[in-house]
Amino acid sequence: MATKRKSSATSDEQDRPASRLCSLSHCQSPASGRGHYWAGPLCAEHLESDKEQFKSRFASIKNETDSILAGASQLTNRAKAAQFELTTDRAETADLFEAVIARVNECREKVLGRLDSNIADMEQIQRSLSCVEKLSVDVKSQSAH
Ligand SMILES: [Zn+2]
Repeated sequence: MATKRKSSATSDEQDRPASRLCSLSHCQSPASGRGHYWAGPLCAEHLESDKEQFKSRFASIKNETDSILAGASQLTNRAKAAQFELTTDRAETADLFEAVIARVNECREKVLGRLDSNIADMEQIQRSLSCVEKLSVDVKSQSAH
C-alpha cells in the first residue's frame, strides 16, 4: 500500500501521487496531514473530523478513567474508615476485658478469703470440740472408778 510505504530518505516530490491523497478510500482530495485517530494521511476536511473524533474518544476515555479513579478513591476512604472503626473497637474490647478480669480477680479474692476464714473457724470449733470430747472421756473414766 502506498500510504504505508517508507518515506524516510525521500522528499515529497519523489513520493508517488497516491501517498499525497487522503487515505480514506472514498475520498480523492489531497492529503494535508496525518490523523490522530486514523493513522494515515488525511485531507483537510477529514483531518478536521478526525480531530473531533479523537477529541470525543479522548473525552470518553478520560470520563471512564475519572469515574474509575473516583470509585477507587471512595473505596480507599471507606477502607480507612473501616480500619479506624476496627482499631477503636479493638481498644474498647481490650479495656472491657481488663475491667472484667479485674472484677473477677477481686471477686476471687473475696470468696477465697471468706472460705479461708470459714475453714479457720471450723478448725477452731473442732479444736474446742475435741477438748470437750476429751473432757467427757476423762469424766466418764473418773466416774467409773
Ligand atoms: Zn478526505
